Amino acid sequence: MNSLFSNLPTTIFEVMSVLARETGAINLGQGFPDGPGPEDIRRKAAEAVLDGYNQYPPMMGLAELRTAVATHYAHWHDVTLDAEREVMITSGATEAIAGAILALVEPGDEVVLFQPLYDAYLPLVKLAGGIPKLVRLEPPHWRFDEEMLARAFSDKTRVVVFNNPLNPTATVFPREDLELLARYCKKFDAVAVCDEVWEHVTFDGRQHIPLIALPGMRERTVKIGSAGKIFSLTGWKVGFVCAAPHLMKALSKAHQFLTFTTPPNLQTAVAYGLGKEDAFFEEMRADLQRSRDRLADGLRSIGLPPLESQGTYFLNVDLAPLGLNVKDEDFCKTLVHERGVALIPVSAFYAENPVTSVVRVCFSKKDTVLDAAIEKLSGLV
Ligand code: GLN
Repeated sequence: MNSLFSNLPTTIFEVMSVLARETGAINLGQGFPDGPGPEDIRRKAAEAVLDGYNQYPPMMGLAELRTAVATHYAHWHDVTLDAEREVMITSGATEAIAGAILALVEPGDEVVLFQPLYDAYLPLVKLAGGIPKLVRLEPPHWRFDEEMLARAFSDKTRVVVFNNPLNPTATVFPREDLELLARYCKKFDAVAVCDEVWEHVTFDGRQHIPLIALPGMRERTVKIGSAGKIFSLTGWKVGFVCAAPHLMKALSKAHQFLTFTTPPNLQTAVAYGLGKEDAFFEEMRADLQRSRDRLADGLRSIGLPPLESQGTYFLNVDLAPLGLNVKDEDFCKTLVHERGVALIPVSAFYAENPVTSVVRVCFSKKDTVLDAAIEKLSGLV
């Protein structure tokens, strides 16, 4: 077999999680919390299963969830959406990203991507026949500037895939960067596919600004969110897509033949969750921030100071300035076997010319797990 997908390597998240399971290592690689998730939301899902929410729901999603998504974004991000025409429920953000790329990219279209990039993007762009144009971000700030955009955009640019807050770098892009990107999208008449699954996971008072809310972007942005990230229930795979009706028409056609629909019991529980009071979301953020600080302090105490983490579940450590002259991939392989801790090499998020000195560490774990990991990692430098 020689298809595009048959030749791809296994995603780094699965590789490191398998290694962690096999070796019994502490898994700070793949990004998932180790807590059970909010009990009331889980109970809603359980009740929904027993109450009979088990047959195909409408293709576009349960009306109660589509309305809850629109209400949630109106409240949190000041984005007004028509639940009937501009919101669709998908089986996780990954399906939404796949659907958006397949629906919007035609063979020969150029697609601007920022690397480090989430590893699903590029194979999907290639499957759609798109030509990737990569903007390369670097530590410690991982920001882009006008010159970088000017090199990547052209009259052939059709789509920009933009992840903000950015996994793995933990960057929350400030308004000025978003304005610059919006200017380029408008200038070259491109659609922005915005993977905003970390929108609620921002720290130190930072507010997520959705690109769709910027002037002139309402008609040319596909906004993608994820209940898994919002509620720390990553296995649920309930995603949301918001876009103007002319875009949604194409997106829904992709969705109907990718998954068609998403488990209704989980949808109804997510609808309930999105309506929770502000304090719930603020506490979640504060809890994660505490975990971030605990791991950051631990890493500093053993001579591995992390780069700034403005959002997401992740901290990054750049090994180069520490004098550790080792490739991130080799470092991670050695650590899992010799120290019993699984991390993610950031080079796996580059399609070309990778930064090879940075490792990603997931902190959405219990204090005891974070402390145990620090103990195992001590004495490396
Ligand atoms: N988003 C998760 C991460 O970055 C992984 C999701 C997956 O394994 N596909 O770790």
